[in-house]
Amino acid sequence: MNKYTFLDLATINAPFSAEIKDALCRVADSGRYIGGPEVERLEAGMAALTGARHAIGVSNGLDALRLILRGYIELGRIQAGDEVIVPSNTYIASVLAVSDCGLVPVPVEPRRDTMNIDSRRIEEAITSRTAAIMPVHLYGRIATDDRLLDIAARHRLLVIEDAAQAIGARDEQGRAAGAIGHAAAFSFYPTKNIGAIGDAGAVTTSDPELARVVAALRNYGSDYTYHNLYQGLNCRIDPLQAAVVALKLPHTDKVNAYRRSIARIYDSEIINPLIEKPVFEQSDYCVWHQYVIKTARRDHFRNYLAENGVETLIHYPVPPHLQPCYPQLAGLSLPIAEQLARQVLSLPITACTSERDAHDICKIINRYSND
Ligand SMILES: *Cc1c(COP(=O)(O)O)cnc(C)c1O
Repeated sequence: MNKYTFLDLATINAPFSAEIKDALCRVADSGRYIGGPEVERLEAGMAALTGARHAIGVSNGLDALRLILRGYIELGRIQAGDEVIVPSNTYIASVLAVSDCGLVPVPVEPRRDTMNIDSRRIEEAITSRTAAIMPVHLYGRIATDDRLLDIAARHRLLVIEDAAQAIGARDEQGRAAGAIGHAAAFSFYPTKNIGAIGDAGAVTTSDPELARVVAALRNYGSDYTYHNLYQGLNCRIDPLQAAVVALKLPHTDKVNAYRRSIARIYDSEIINPLIEKPVFEQSDYCVWHQYVIKTARRDHFRNYLAENGVETLIHYPVPPHLQPCYPQLAGLSLPIAEQLARQVLSLPITACTSERDAHDICKIINRYSND
């Protein structure tokens, strides 16, 4: 039986292996182990890729979100106890960033088709304490539609993009993830479309004040040596990771185009009526961090695929409001997020999946029946 791997990081990094080794040796020999030219190169690359005026390399995606929120608190744009609207079906990190900063996460249900926050439901969640909306470009699809941006502008809310899954993604106007809202957080966790070989992340923004505060906050709140403007953190990016990410950044479009070619095969060849495919637009703006189908008997389908050698994952099996760390959210009625958690399944879509594998997987899926 053939085996269809969901993800193998060594395989994904193999095309970059010589360059990665060069970069690691270069840093080791340089004597610059904190900050320095590798970090600056990564930051310049992220600014160029997104079109945002500023990029700040940081320790990981969660810290990128925390630093943005902390930055706006330091600037007086958000007050302790304010509310931040988040999608109810996001990865836990989006919500953790909000609560860690002493803010109140307010989950809003997604649309079932795009699985992104439903902008038609945002206005009813706004109160006098709402300070920001944190749209998450889930699975690589832009979540900031015109209605969301219009609501934010009318209510003077900050838009903080969780772009961890969306490097290189664009909206229908061609604006890149990272340059749509007031600030954006990226993750280079190894499984993201552009991954480090450890933890890493970045903040992008065109707001020079926020950029200045985030740059200080990541480094003990220090603006110059032994001078501390803020009660900061140590959330710096490791130059080894910055060097690895910087060398991969120029390949972002190619990496994303490959994922799209697999998504296109799934979209055109999966014809089993038991399987609900994700929205597939003709534009190439979605970067397909995951290809997520929905099906009623998900675990049954998942076992069937496993028996046929197809590895899958669930993103995500438990929504944040039902996690034990958030008892204060447990009473909320969020039936769409809960239904998605029961029905979603991610198919293989990385460089580990050949086009031929994708054709095979479609045939296996089309043979599935749920009795
Ligand atoms: C991965 C991810 C994060 C967190 O990034 P880390 O680098 O793992 O801290 C945040 N939000 C979303 C949507 C993610 O997928």
